[in-house]
Amino acid sequence: MENPHRAVPCRVLITDFDFPDLELEHSMYQAAGIEVVTAQCRTPEEVIAASAHCNALLVQYAPVNEQVFAARPEIRIASRYGAGFDTIDTAAALRHGVWVANSPDYGVGEVATHALAMTLDLLRHITVYDRAVKAGSWHYTQGGTIRRIGELTVGVLGLGRIGKRYAHIARDCFARVIAHDPYLIDGDFPAYVERVELDALFAQADVVSVHTPLNTETRGMVNARLLGLMKHGSLLMNCARGAIVDTQALLAAVESGRLDGAGLDVLPIEPPAPGDALVAHPRVLVSPHAAFYSVTGERELRRKAAQNIIDWAQRGRPSYTVVQGS
Ligand code: NAD
Repeated sequence: MENPHRAVPCRVLITDFDFPDLELEHSMYQAAGIEVVTAQCRTPEEVIAASAHCNALLVQYAPVNEQVFAARPEIRIASRYGAGFDTIDTAAALRHGVWVANSPDYGVGEVATHALAMTLDLLRHITVYDRAVKAGSWHYTQGGTIRRIGELTVGVLGLGRIGKRYAHIARDCFARVIAHDPYLIDGDFPAYVERVELDALFAQADVVSVHTPLNTETRGMVNARLLGLMKHGSLLMNCARGAIVDTQALLAAVESGRLDGAGLDVLPIEPPAPGDALVAHPRVLVSPHAAFYSVTGERELRRKAAQNIIDWAQRGRPSYTVVQGS
């Protein structure tokens, strides 16, 4: 059947990108007859100023909210470079009939393996050993005691695309895989994953790995109460979004020795302030929001996020819809 949608002229603002160049986006948009403007915006005011005569936004971390949609009613679609879309106010987009799109499946393997790499590093004391050897020492007890991973339980909070992949690759290392996800039916839990309640996840796991989205329900969800349920010597991994974890409570749990350490790819404020006590802690392993990254993954991320806007202009809807526009 012929698509009744008629292609609309499109001018896109590409903003707040970390990439060294936008060659890929420029070539895709040139081929599709889409005009491009670029500006590095970090605030809604900057997005508004840069998006004159644009009906599409391609954004990474720039906040796109009510203020932007109200000031620029001609904007009809916002596509995010990334799986998470917490930087875009989806309720405001819905009110203004603006399409919101993302690129949810480009880096599932990258993030899951990154989270597992951090988990195994902390359990096997790899970074601790490396620092000690470079400082001149050479002894296997340098990093403290090590437990056999095959005797431990790993817990997954949020068994979506990434959480499920993490569970899948972790299952060969750990004795038991447990998970909490209230939005899945039992049939969505693979046979090797045991479904548990939230408190049981924190009380029973030797490692908890966080893989939920950031939203009003999950903001600050991993708090002092949940961390207080964790076993002495356990670990917390967060490769999802920094604000899901109460970082003051996490620092207190690591300093008190309840947690043996933490692996964090994400922080509530990125980059962190110089001297941030959690980042500086020797038993906290940190990477700079890099879990998504591989050469192939980055190209896929950029191609899919850009393609959303081409699909919207040519066919009336993006390839990956978060909010349906009108
Ligand atoms: P997804 O939507 O596929 O899965 C999220 C899962 O969390 C869903 O199954 C959902 O039911 C579950 N969930 C929601 N609320 C929950 C709650 N209160 N308790 C328990 N479970 C809950 O998302 P995904 O693609 O797997 O992404 C997971 C996270 O990883 C997101 O926060 C995303 O932003 C982040 N991410 C980080 C990077 C990085 O580079 N660090 C890259 C990609 C994605």
